[in-house]
Amino acid sequence: MVDIQPYEYRRRPLVEPDWTRFPGWRDVTREQWESAQWQRAHCVKNARQLHDLLGTLVGDEFYADLDADQRGLATMSMLVPPQMLNTMVPDRVPDTQAFYADPVRRYMIPVASDRHADWPSHPYATRDSLHEHDMWVAEGLTHRYPTKVLAELLSTCPQYCGHCTRMDLVGNSTATVEKLKLSLKPVDRYDAMISYLQAHPGVRDVVVSGGDVANVPWKNLESFLMRLLAIETIRDIRLATKALVGIPQHWLAPDVVEGLERVARTAARRGVNLAIHTHVNHVNSLTPLVARAAQTALEVGVRDVRNQGVLMRGINATTPDLLDLCFALQGETGILPYYFYMCDMIPNAEHWRVAVWQAQALQHDIMGYLPGYATPRIVCDVPFVGKRWVHMVTEYDREHGISYWTKNYRTSIEREDANALVRHYPYYDPIDTLGHYGQTWWRKQAEAATAA
Ligand code: SF4
Repeated sequence: MVDIQPYEYRRRPLVEPDWTRFPGWRDVTREQWESAQWQRAHCVKNARQLHDLLGTLVGDEFYADLDADQRGLATMSMLVPPQMLNTMVPDRVPDTQAFYADPVRRYMIPVASDRHADWPSHPYATRDSLHEHDMWVAEGLTHRYPTKVLAELLSTCPQYCGHCTRMDLVGNSTATVEKLKLSLKPVDRYDAMISYLQAHPGVRDVVVSGGDVANVPWKNLESFLMRLLAIETIRDIRLATKALVGIPQHWLAPDVVEGLERVARTAARRGVNLAIHTHVNHVNSLTPLVARAAQTALEVGVRDVRNQGVLMRGINATTPDLLDLCFALQGETGILPYYFYMCDMIPNAEHWRVAVWQAQALQHDIMGYLPGYATPRIVCDVPFVGKRWVHMVTEYDREHGISYWTKNYRTSIEREDANALVRHYPYYDPIDTLGHYGQTWWRKQAEAATAA
């Protein structure tokens, strides 16, 4: 008789890793650690600062590898808050091998040797792969779905993730990517967004994002949210902030908590669903401080805190990794496991991306363990389509790694397009996940394109 389950659940309490194991933080006090200001002032922004922190714990080859990535491949500049760094190799003093292997390091501090040597980018990878900028109806306001908009209030975050899907706009320019710049003054940008929403009562749901709303000065964010709440047709507001896990200290700062309570109270009075959406990719990122920040948001009246992680090879694309993360979110922090997005088709991301069939297998394998309402959906954000559950694929050419998807609404750039709802929209698996035939086919395509 077989009585072993493919996954065994064990409750594990959250632990704040001991930051004094890093030589550069040997004398950092709890008071400093829990200050958002201290966290922001001590972010690591380059290989030299990382070296100052870790010293010889990590060999010189790592710093050279990081430098090579920053000079030739990175689509995001480096910005890692101490809180996030402290969740890398959380249970011991790191060494070179453990630091290389760490799942949080793999996406927050990518190095050149992480990238795929033959196919660092898919031939169809693009900046702004979701065409959010093309769908701007006012600066920073993407109208892609009929009833929902994305409001990018600013283009910065308190942390920069290597795989950022908004690499076109977010963060500082890198050696390889000159970033798009927002041109309006923030106050004019917010005015234009509010005017659009007042004039379009069919839009009921606003994702207030960026960047990360944790970088909007609180009084400006509160004023924008209060103006949104004054529009009677807006029924859902979601605040997008990875800082809940990157710098939970921000969401625990007294002025932010008090302001959030005022906004939540107003939302409740007007019957608007106010939620926070955060972005956690690995269970190691969840610590008691993160749990405290999420619980505080719930206590002051935010209706839900939900997680939208990104599914990435080498970080979380296994059944135990996903379930460990989801159980800790659901059971230890009060954050609802909501979505995992397949990593988007941006440049130099092939080593992180998974194929649609792999995502389907993972969705299959995580079913039945978590409560149904807390079982995340794994979704593919198909260019020109939007989020589709991974099993909604219409056709799938596994040999070439091309899946085809359909949709049931027009985006803001397809109002005149008679075929928008009958077209099949392609999405591409990473080439290294294909068989010999598929890989050869793509190589020949690339050679032909170079020769032309
Ligand atoms: S927090 Fe979000 S917007 Fe900012 S870099 Fe990370 S993925 Fe991009």
